[in-house]
Amino acid sequence: QSQELSQARIDYHVALQALQQHGTRMVCTGKMHTDRICRFDYLCYSSEAEEFVFFHSNSSVMLPNLGSRRFQPALLDLSSVEDHNTQYFNFLELPAAALKFMPKPVFVPDVTLILNRFNPDNLMHVFHDDLLPAFFTMRQYSDLDDEARLVFMEGWAEGPHFDLYRLLSSKQPLLKEQLRNFGKLMCFTKSYVGLSKMTTWYQYGFVQPQGPKANILVSGNEIRHFASALMGKMNITRMEEAEKDGGSSEQERDRDNKDEYIAVFSRSTTRLILNEAELIMALAQEFQMRVVTLSLEEQSFPSIIQVISAASMLVSMHGAQLITSMFLPRGATVVELFPFAVNPEQYTPYKTLASLPGMDLHYICWRNSIEQNTVTHPDRPWEQGGIAHLEKEEQQRILASTDVPRHLCCRNPEWLFRIYQDTLVDIPSFLMVLKDGMKSKPALKKTKITSTVHPGRVREAHCQTSVQNPNEAKLTVSWQIPWNLKYLKVREVKYEVWIQEQGENTYMPYILPQQNYTFSENIKPFTTYLVWVRCIFNKNLLGPASRYQFKLW
Ligand code: UDP
Repeated sequence: QSQELSQARIDYHVALQALQQHGTRMVCTGKMHTDRICRFDYLCYSSEAEEFVFFHSNSSVMLPNLGSRRFQPALLDLSSVEDHNTQYFNFLELPAAALKFMPKPVFVPDVTLILNRFNPDNLMHVFHDDLLPAFFTMRQYSDLDDEARLVFMEGWAEGPHFDLYRLLSSKQPLLKEQLRNFGKLMCFTKSYVGLSKMTTWYQYGFVQPQGPKANILVSGNEIRHFASALMGKMNITRMEEAEKDGGSSEQERDRDNKDEYIAVFSRSTTRLILNEAELIMALAQEFQMRVVTLSLEEQSFPSIIQVISAASMLVSMHGAQLITSMFLPRGATVVELFPFAVNPEQYTPYKTLASLPGMDLHYICWRNSIEQNTVTHPDRPWEQGGIAHLEKEEQQRILASTDVPRHLCCRNPEWLFRIYQDTLVDIPSFLMVLKDGMKSKPALKKTKITSTVHPGRVREAHCQTSVQNPNEAKLTVSWQIPWNLKYLKVREVKYEVWIQEQGENTYMPYILPQQNYTFSENIKPFTTYLVWVRCIFNKNLLGPASRYQFKLW
């Protein structure tokens, strides 16, 4: 590997001189450690000290220059999980002059993205915490291209999903333990440290019980863009896309329907569906479709994604494998099963994903509510839900409880006990939930881009006033359509108008189909009115509000 790097496209002596003269340079985005990504020239890493090193010289740059606030609590989060105290990044400082007494640095010529994977053993975490954030961090900085080098500093081994990380760039990612192979001191010519959190939608419950993030900033479009890019790298072509290109007619669609199938995800070690065969038969019969089974243990990841990418429905126990629902075609249904005493409302990473606007997935959950149909594993190790290590009383309480109370991550024994149960799925109740859930499945509109285009502001508002008598007046407001409307085919255009007497706290809202309106209710002469007008496309696409002020004389 050190050979690979020594074919440097950089002149060693030039690099060394630059480092000695200019030291390290850092410029970052973000006001807080939680939204910060830093770009460095000549950030170094001492494998001996297991620390990053910032070399100060007369021309080094450190922005933000936080002084010792850099340690409160850290410069930035190295993983996409917000403010997790095992995921902080910082560097040691040294004067560049110290380089004279240090081992000769090895320079890394590649533009490098340095990050922590959060939990590379778990497929959900791999996608949500690492792959999506790294993918979009790389889109954010154009020199993080296909030739970029990724460095994973969390200290874990490759893990079972390393092939997925390899898809992010053409260069082999480096692990922390491999850095020592490059010598005692390595310096990254150009590097970025940290991950964008823009695409994450779920928080795992470190500070408050798990749930969707408070301010989700990603839509299904970005998730699908990422999924398609990854499929491209895996040489999978989506059936759906091929169909579109052929411009399938109504009849062709009917024919295609005959090829529709349901995918059932099977787990083979924990959280089992005990009557999988029966479940499969019931699904096949109910929907008159083929049912195929998927298993992370038995099939390659690309072959699983190939199947999922054209499935009409994905059925699975709650668990990390459900992250693959991002590869389902638009209009597909996700059916998530929950073991006994586990409330689906409280564990919604996959529901949240399926429900992202533009994801166009239909989500249904089923919960085992029959205690006889659950198989518990009290004697397993605690991390697989065993409770034998607990006090007898606590064991009794857990066994008697039919609902896991809200809890924090990650070691709540009652939660682990219940989530690692195996389940005999009660077919009648399952089919009922499914049939019921399918009733509310919206028809997939042939996705029109225009359905996400927001109105511009309304323009050129005018006002005509007429004072009837000292107590009565009228106010006629008219406006022009938003500029972008003339280029769009919009099903329904409405205007929302608020009118407020200046100085008052309350306002009157109106929803109007036309571009003018005469207000006469509660309109007083010799008063100033504030009027807000905004355009609404198709009931829910709101435009910006324009504010106007009119005075009645
Ligand atoms: N896993 C699997 N089969 C099993 C149990 C787990 O493929 O029978 C995978 C699972 O998809 C995840 C990892 O092993 O990627 C860890 O599973 P765990 O049950 O710890 O996490 P969860 O699925 O609850 O997120």
